[in-house]
Amino acid sequence: MKLKSNDPCWCGSGRKHKRCHGDRQALDRPPVELGQVSPMRPVPETIARPDYVTTGRISTPKAAHIHDAESLARHRHACQVAAEVLLRTGAAVAAGVTTDELDVVAHDTYVELGAYPSTLGYRGYTKSICTSVNGVICHGIPDDRPLREGDIVNVDVTAYVDGMHGDNSAMFVVGEPSDAVSGLIETTREATLRGIAAIRPNESIQNIARAIEPFAAARGYGVIREYGGHGIGVTFHADPHVNHCIDAHDRYVLRPGMTLTVEPMLTTGRPTFHQADDGWTEHANDNRPSAQFEHTVLVTDDGVEILTITADGDTAVGTLDQLAVV
Ligand SMILES: [Zn+2]
Repeated sequence: MKLKSNDPCWCGSGRKHKRCHGDRQALDRPPVELGQVSPMRPVPETIARPDYVTTGRISTPKAAHIHDAESLARHRHACQVAAEVLLRTGAAVAAGVTTDELDVVAHDTYVELGAYPSTLGYRGYTKSICTSVNGVICHGIPDDRPLREGDIVNVDVTAYVDGMHGDNSAMFVVGEPSDAVSGLIETTREATLRGIAAIRPNESIQNIARAIEPFAAARGYGVIREYGGHGIGVTFHADPHVNHCIDAHDRYVLRPGMTLTVEPMLTTGRPTFHQADDGWTEHANDNRPSAQFEHTVLVTDDGVEILTITADGDTAVGTLDQLAVV
């Protein structure tokens, strides 16, 4: 059941939700106006590109990839690079910084680490990350709009290196968040980690949505149904499709050795959206803020392992240790 505005807030404050973590005044932002997008940044020729960049078409298999030790080692490296790019880009988030400047930080970090930005040249996309601010649900294009105090931004990073794609995203806040904003962000982080923790080998993929959707609803948040996670590895977007909302008809069973993303988008308003004329940016219809986190994970013989963590154990997304109750 979805928490209603007059219900007691989920945080235990005793206040009505609408006067606490559901406070619309603390959440509402003016619509994000799209700015100018700069030209594509070059990547040195020494860095290997995915097939869709070199040939213009995707020739790698769409079927779920089952890793062996050799391919897993390469995928693990791509995921570590993606985690590092996300951390360094997130550290640059500040008032007055444009999302295009974040794209520069990310782009230079991919190149420094020998990786190609998977989104650069993917189906006509011309930037090295996605930056989705406030009421943008996903796929925001970095542009010349400066971040402002109180903005929240999702940075989505996918690195291609050693023939593998590693994908992760996280939320960053400009300035000090209100309780309502941190409630959205931390609930989305926890929903993502709960979804991951629910993964079991040789069990239904529905475990993920069952861990996410009711948890979000009990705190008054919507979950976007139309966008899901995906298999990933040698192919950027492969099978399986990962639902974050429960679909009782989804019969997919996860197998050890599969790698996939878990990346729920939670909304403070209704989970409905529309695409901008740029063909990418998805705006919430009511412009109310949304949040998303994402990890690439491996289905193991006895559970799950998060791959998008740096070699030093750092992540802007979170680890399963952070879950008090699984
Ligand atoms: Zn509260």
